[in-house]
Amino acid sequence: MSLDKRLDKLRGMLVGLAVGDALGAAVEFMPRGSFEPIEGYRAGGPHNLKAGYWTDDTSMALCSGASLIHCNQHDPEDQMQRYQRWFRDGYMSSTGRCFDIGFQTQRAIQRFEREGVDLSREIHPDDVDSAGNGALMRLAPVVIKFHAHLDRAISAAADNAALTHSDRRCIDANRVFTFILIRALNSDDKNEVLSPAAIAAYFAETLEYEVAAVTQGSYSQLDESQVVSSGYVVTSLEAALWAFYNASSFEEGAKLAVNLGDDADTIGAIYGQIAGAFWGYDAMPRAWINELHDPARIITVADLLATGITDQHLEILIEHSSA
Ligand code: MG
Ligand code: MG
Repeated sequence: MSLDKRLDKLRGMLVGLAVGDALGAAVEFMPRGSFEPIEGYRAGGPHNLKAGYWTDDTSMALCSGASLIHCNQHDPEDQMQRYQRWFRDGYMSSTGRCFDIGFQTQRAIQRFEREGVDLSREIHPDDVDSAGNGALMRLAPVVIKFHAHLDRAISAAADNAALTHSDRRCIDANRVFTFILIRALNSDDKNEVLSPAAIAAYFAETLEYEVAAVTQGSYSQLDESQVVSSGYVVTSLEAALWAFYNASSFEEGAKLAVNLGDDADTIGAIYGQIAGAFWGYDAMPRAWINELHDPARIITVADLLATGITDQHLEILIEHSSA
């Protein structure tokens, strides 16, 4: 695969996340069939955003990406500090303030403010029965950063999830989606990307059983009426894979994903990661990039991660230009 094609797919993974998020934002929390189908960006929604503006999914992904660029590795403290800056000060928000935050994420940030980073990755007793999609929705930067090292990418994805979503289902969804995303970077054959046999061979018996059932192909058996688009990580993964499996282009699948309604922005953001990695940045509708809020910021974060450029590299450039 040419370098250009590789960079196009890596950039597509993060831009796709933001595009899916922005497409779904106007119909988040709305029941399926209760709204005029989404064909492009639309103003409004629960946060009354302008058309093309993105939500917490993209803000958290940008926080994570900026941290990986700054630290050149997964740094739990720096990650949490940036999520906290977003929550408190609107860092990396599309509007300059944090206007939406998931319950588990908010609780994790407040725990971090009280106690600092907890690296034990133990499931807190109050995490039982709470397995939201708030870590899966922001995964792309981790995969872009570590895509050349499969095992390292998968363990970094687990570590990223554990910062806010320590439930086994959230961690395993991140692990297996990383595997699928890296296959999407390396293949133009959808069956190869989603291969249940390849997933089973790599993970053996280590995946939580509900997550395993999805990646063994549950999504391929569903018609639209059977797809659940709530904030539960297992069904969110299933819904995003359903849209990808049934689409022949980025655009077609994005509409399938967000028109499911309910957690539409996040199903769109999860879908956008795999569709962007598979079809690439150049295959997205131009209007969806041009009308996206601040595409340059998203593209810059993606490209710095993809090329491995860190803050230290940028400082060298600045020093030499001012000498
Ligand atoms: Mg959102
Ligand atoms: Mg959402």
